[in-house]
Amino acid sequence: MISTLELREKYLNFFEGKGHAVIPSAPLVPEGDPTALFISAGMHPLVPYLLGEAHPKGKRLVNYQRCFRTTDIDEVGDPWHLTFFEMLGNWSLGDYWKQDSIKYSWEFLVDKKWLGLNPNKLAVSVFAGDDDAPRDLESSEAWRSRGVPKEKIYYLPKDNNWWGPVGPTGPCGPDTEIFYDTGVSFSEHSVPGCGPACSCGRWVEIWNNVFMEYEKHPDGTFTKLHQQNVDTGMGLERTTAVLNGFESNFEIDTIKPLVAEIKVKVPELDERGTRIAADHIRAATMIIMDGVEPSNKDRGYLLRRLLRKVMSQHPQLREAEVLSDVVGEVGSIFKNIYPKAESDQARIKAVVNAELEKFNLTFIRGERHFRALAEKGTITGKESFDLYSSFGFPIDATKELARTSGATVDLEEFEQEFKKHQEVSRAGSDQKFKGGLADQSEATTKLHTATHMLQAALRITLGEHVLQKGSNITPERLRFDFSHPDKLTPDQLQAVEDLVNEKIKEDLPVEKEVVDYAEGVKRGAIGVLEGKPGDQVSIYSIPEFSLEFCGGPHVTHTGALGHFKVIREEAVSAGVRRIKAVVD
Ligand code: ATP
Ligand code: MG
Repeated sequence: MISTLELREKYLNFFEGKGHAVIPSAPLVPEGDPTALFISAGMHPLVPYLLGEAHPKGKRLVNYQRCFRTTDIDEVGDPWHLTFFEMLGNWSLGDYWKQDSIKYSWEFLVDKKWLGLNPNKLAVSVFAGDDDAPRDLESSEAWRSRGVPKEKIYYLPKDNNWWGPVGPTGPCGPDTEIFYDTGVSFSEHSVPGCGPACSCGRWVEIWNNVFMEYEKHPDGTFTKLHQQNVDTGMGLERTTAVLNGFESNFEIDTIKPLVAEIKVKVPELDERGTRIAADHIRAATMIIMDGVEPSNKDRGYLLRRLLRKVMSQHPQLREAEVLSDVVGEVGSIFKNIYPKAESDQARIKAVVNAELEKFNLTFIRGERHFRALAEKGTITGKESFDLYSSFGFPIDATKELARTSGATVDLEEFEQEFKKHQEVSRAGSDQKFKGGLADQSEATTKLHTATHMLQAALRITLGEHVLQKGSNITPERLRFDFSHPDKLTPDQLQAVEDLVNEKIKEDLPVEKEVVDYAEGVKRGAIGVLEGKPGDQVSIYSIPEFSLEFCGGPHVTHTGALGHFKVIREEAVSAGVRRIKAVVD
């Protein structure tokens, strides 16, 4: 039996032995990054370094990183997907390349001194090649030289074996994935012959080595990068499971006690429901530990969704004591790795219980309404949507009650209603946006116009892939986040600054016009405002320089700005840069 603790230590020791510096695990909430909700891979906190910044710990790095993937939420219940999981990773920042990366991975996996996995149970996939980039023969040869037979090397297309770029342009490259043959399928074969590309569950991907060697350009072409990086990620839970011969993640030491606890407390819950409860409570505990509280938007909403899904599943999962006990178990499991999971227990339980109280109130009302509707045997999509929107009753709860009461629900119609609702609420947030700046002081107004000019200058200097991703203006400074994969060079920054100052000197008029949204799009206006044809929206223009959908206000002439100066340029997240600037 090998524990996650042992695997974690072995991994760090192995790569330390190969000259890697151990770096800490970052919190689940990305620091200073408004665009990404959660860290979803070990490489995520390292993006600035993968894009070329020097890392203070050197060129060889290793760590374990907690991750949360909301995209995998519907997969939870199968043997291999969790929402919260840990990734072991090693990186080469312009140091070793494919040969060594593959050599290290193979040695760690099969050498008896390390994991000692049976090599006959392993297979790998390699990028097959296409019009953009050739077949990755360097990787397949590296595998062959480790003794991996030809028939265990699968060549797969971009969809499977290619990473990046994070934005429309930037570093990217082929990857090679390592699979373990569990010998057990849990669903229908999706491809004949069953190999790593089959999704029947027999082959589980345990490790992914990404080779960043190309740069994608705005015209769609690819060229070789000067600095070539290796970025690998190994699933801690999956690898521990296969090392022990388990048939799922749910049997390993950081999850099994949760499953066991839930089975005791909620014996009627089926296997899938039990797995969902274990995974979601584990994830929710870690997310709350990292500072998120339930709410109706963004991170808070995803947390609320996890908890409400659990609570919807069974009456016993709507008891404070049951939830607290499972949260307590998560704390004991992780106390040596993430001490706050244990030391913050009281706070974490209080957050879960407050959410439970809110949910129970909603639930009682919703359940009563559901029972009334269910008397006729079927519940229409509109009715289930009404339960959701007017009673706050989650669709998961409707599904669960339908299952236990024998009523049927039109889920397709529910989805349609849900989409319609999303469109309406999007239009609502545009209305808010049309109100424009909250603070309309002279200083803020100047910086608002400067923000438009900055965006225009960035697009002229760097290319049209630059678009606003966020903006925040105070009377002291502007902060502008935009899509662009690389750090700006001093020359680029100077060019941007000069261009804005040139346009200030020209003292150009800043003009407002109210037009049909479609007309604005036709004229090439940009901006964060999402409208639809027929909406009357305002656009602000600076002749032959800037045209944006915007609620204003702005200065009437660019000359009012004085002098424009960039004070900071930094990364915000994968593919997003931030500039802070002032005018005086
Ligand atoms: P899959 O196709 O199986 O979902 P992936 O291609 O999304 O995996 P990567 O993004 O390459 O996975 O992540 C690197 C490693 O992290 C994977 O090889 C796997 O071991 C692990 N991993 C990825 N997603 C999950 C998950 N949802 N639960 C547990 N482990 C995961
Ligand atoms: Mg995946």
